[in-house]
Amino acid sequence: MSEQLNAFEMAQKQFDAVAKQLNLDPGIAETLRWPMREFSFRIPVRMDDGSLRVFQGFRVQHNDARGPNKGGIRFAADETLDTVRALSMWMTWKCAVADIPLGGSKGGIIVDPSALSTTEKESLCRGWVQNMWRNIGPRQDVPAPDVGTNPQMMGWMMDEYSKQVGQFTPGVVTGKPLGSGGSLGRTEATGYGVIYTVREAMKHLKLDSTKMVAAIQGFGNVAQYAAIGFVEILGGKVACVSCYDRHEKKAFTYSHKDGIDPRFLLTIVDPYGTIDKAKAQEAGYVVEDGDAWLGKDVDVLIPAAKEGQVNAETIKKISKRVKLVAEGANGPTTPEADEFFKKNNIFVIPDFLCNAGGVTCSYFESVQNDMNFYWPKEEVLQKLDQKMTVAFHGVLDMALEKKVYMRDAAYMVAISRVVKAMELRGWLTGEA
Ligand code: NAD
Repeated sequence: MSEQLNAFEMAQKQFDAVAKQLNLDPGIAETLRWPMREFSFRIPVRMDDGSLRVFQGFRVQHNDARGPNKGGIRFAADETLDTVRALSMWMTWKCAVADIPLGGSKGGIIVDPSALSTTEKESLCRGWVQNMWRNIGPRQDVPAPDVGTNPQMMGWMMDEYSKQVGQFTPGVVTGKPLGSGGSLGRTEATGYGVIYTVREAMKHLKLDSTKMVAAIQGFGNVAQYAAIGFVEILGGKVACVSCYDRHEKKAFTYSHKDGIDPRFLLTIVDPYGTIDKAKAQEAGYVVEDGDAWLGKDVDVLIPAAKEGQVNAETIKKISKRVKLVAEGANGPTTPEADEFFKKNNIFVIPDFLCNAGGVTCSYFESVQNDMNFYWPKEEVLQKLDQKMTVAFHGVLDMALEKKVYMRDAAYMVAISRVVKAMELRGWLTGEA
């Protein structure tokens, strides 16, 4: 019963199923279903009121056979070691499916960042690095922003690491601010990456992108650029977007009779992805319930908000017209909804392929840091398009060859690549 599994148990279950399909050696499977290394540590921080508080920090390095570990750092009040383990494993598969030479890791601190002052946040970021600096670095493990962390925090972490090692080392973290080692195109990367895979899926399904209509959940970083890309790159129409209204504490769907104008909505959305409802209504937008996006008469669904949104309950609303689902968010589809897609022959671009544009651009950031030479935005996006297109076709070819669902094919591609790297490095022969 999937509801009772925590994130790590779920990640292991998914892995076990594919390991079986691939007929993986049980010893290799046992190696890959656990992280290679885990760090758990306490970070004391002097608070603004003079008191000393101690925070729990983590870093989990799942597998670095294909290159330095890569993965974000989350600041969340409900963070657990098992969540970080699961996310580190998914990063290994994501980097492998995108075919970037990196492994998988994730980190976190149990903290509600909104309850900290700027100086307290800075101390916490520096404290995390003081614990971890010997075990991270451009050739070991490269953190990035994630839930509850942002480019400014990456700037502090990069500075602390550089101080510890005595050398300016921008490549130790990615997602840094522009002007401090960040890459152009990072803001657009995940959303545009989603669209590059949607474009390839439409070619495969022989759909004319200019006649396609999409419904998008979310209007944060991923959804904003997926919406812009759907209109400007594919020439299609976006019927609606939904977002969580943090003032009214509920989600709403925004639609427009002519299709939404994502560039306009970008001018009335706050940094947390909440659209200004009054201004949207003034501009002729119809505001409906948060789940309404899923029931629209559209060809394409792009869940790009949060996990578990397409589930046994919400799936009942889906229009018969839907042909394609592009998972911009991580884990938006529950196993029950996945079964529905399989049964109804709806083509799914699975999350760790579909949203791999972000980590691919992070990889480009590291490359630029290494060279100390920075590419124009057009070059970053063109390289991103190429990577995402090749990644999509690698998975599609596997799905067609083995006659399996796209999600299973993505796991098969990723796991095979990691096992291959382990073999080539001699890790599986006892000669390492
Ligand atoms: P974000 O915080 O910028 O935006 C999230 C959006 O979702 C906001 O508009 C919010 O209002 C909306 N939302 C939240 N709950 C909702 C609900 N119940 N109904 C409708 N809308 C809701 O986040 P983001 O960076 O855009 O990330 C979105 C998803 O994509 C997450 O699952 C994230 O893990 C994943 N992801 C992000 C990146 C990236 O580079 N940003 C990369 C890979 C995966």
